[in-house]
Amino acid sequence: MPVDMDKIVSLCKRRGFVFQSSEIYGGLGSCWDYGPMGVELKRNVKDAWWKAIVQERNDVVGIDTSIMMHPRVWEASGHVDSFTDPLVECKACHFRWRATEVSDQRCPKCGGELTEPRMFNLMFKTLMGPVEEEASTIYLRPETAQGIFVNFENVVSTSRKKLPLGIAQIGKSFRNEITPGNFVFRTREFEHMELEYFVKQGTDEQWLDYWVKERFDWYIELGIKKENLRLRQHGRNELAHYAKDCYDVEYLFPMGWSELEGIANRGDYDLSQHAKHSGRDLSYYDAESGERYVPYVIEPSAGVDRSFLAFLIDAYDEEEIGGETRTVLHLHPSLAPVTVAVLPLSRNERLTPLAKEVHKQLCQSFMTYYDDSQSIGRRYRRQDETGTPFCVTIDFQSLEDNQVTIRERDSLAQIRVPIEGLAEILQAKLGGEAFDTSPLWATRQP
Ligand SMILES: [Zn+2]
Repeated sequence: MPVDMDKIVSLCKRRGFVFQSSEIYGGLGSCWDYGPMGVELKRNVKDAWWKAIVQERNDVVGIDTSIMMHPRVWEASGHVDSFTDPLVECKACHFRWRATEVSDQRCPKCGGELTEPRMFNLMFKTLMGPVEEEASTIYLRPETAQGIFVNFENVVSTSRKKLPLGIAQIGKSFRNEITPGNFVFRTREFEHMELEYFVKQGTDEQWLDYWVKERFDWYIELGIKKENLRLRQHGRNELAHYAKDCYDVEYLFPMGWSELEGIANRGDYDLSQHAKHSGRDLSYYDAESGERYVPYVIEPSAGVDRSFLAFLIDAYDEEEIGGETRTVLHLHPSLAPVTVAVLPLSRNERLTPLAKEVHKQLCQSFMTYYDDSQSIGRRYRRQDETGTPFCVTIDFQSLEDNQVTIRERDSLAQIRVPIEGLAEILQAKLGGEAFDTSPLWATRQP
């Protein structure tokens, strides 16, 4: 079922995923704050990426570089000259538009006359230093990649790794986009997950194919429906000046197919440019072949915020159950903000101590949420809306038999299990163990 963006924005606000930045002051355009549920989902997206890219591999290491860098970095990278958009300005209301957005030479807002297109740099400028007059102009990074390139030598010489070698980074980037929009899809401040994978020239095309497949499959493994994902190769005229080849992983957002991630073959452009501008030799000595060369680089570059949005949209569902509609997020358990909700049947003083004890046991291993307000039915609905895979209910019978009920989000199956070993049972369920084949009793209840 296709979902419109308004429903997602409203769910995000209602359930504490995303709030408008500085809302009490009227909000700041295209800036968003991640609330208690959003921060967990976003962290899980980044953790899943780091696990797949760094933790589970022997040929990639991580790095965390500063947002502010030497201004010459951006001269070498080409951003000062080329990171620009052609803009036109309305002579009447002074609103700026991307030249490509305006078809009939009139301001889409007020119908006013437009200026000729002018180039506008997308990097944010700021001043560094204690005295404003003497301070130097620096930029907020528009990508995390350059922090990796300028550390190539440091990483190679300290990590004792051979090529092919990847360096991965997650961090904030800033672009003064003229037309941000579509909620957290395009914003001026966002998070990047970038990998620069350094290889020998001649093996680059093969490695590009490899990473295109790896990255496409990553989204599928984390639950994105295959029919909502596609690959698109850039046309010749679309390629950035440094790129030899590039593919986009695109997702079918409510506003249409849009880029989630780009996987580019950047050749040896970046290291060569930095070698030229810094005067440092950034070539690599291959001890096996005895050759020295400037490596080529394959770059899978993904947006955290737009991945977050795609996972949310893809998980969103409205289901008819017993004549009622339930809104549910079928999020992959490893992405869900809360893994286990602990719900005493009521606030009865006999139930509370046992429920607190169960919560204490589970919060060591899982992100948990304790909730004893309102009816159990309403609490289940709330957990469904935030995508919690499991609810553990403590009732009066639990006081007698030391067992609790686990309710599973997607199948709505309920099973009764002993409190002792509850964490292990949940861990097995998270690992993919089927829910309804439990030796204990199982029922399907709304
Ligand atoms: Zn205008």
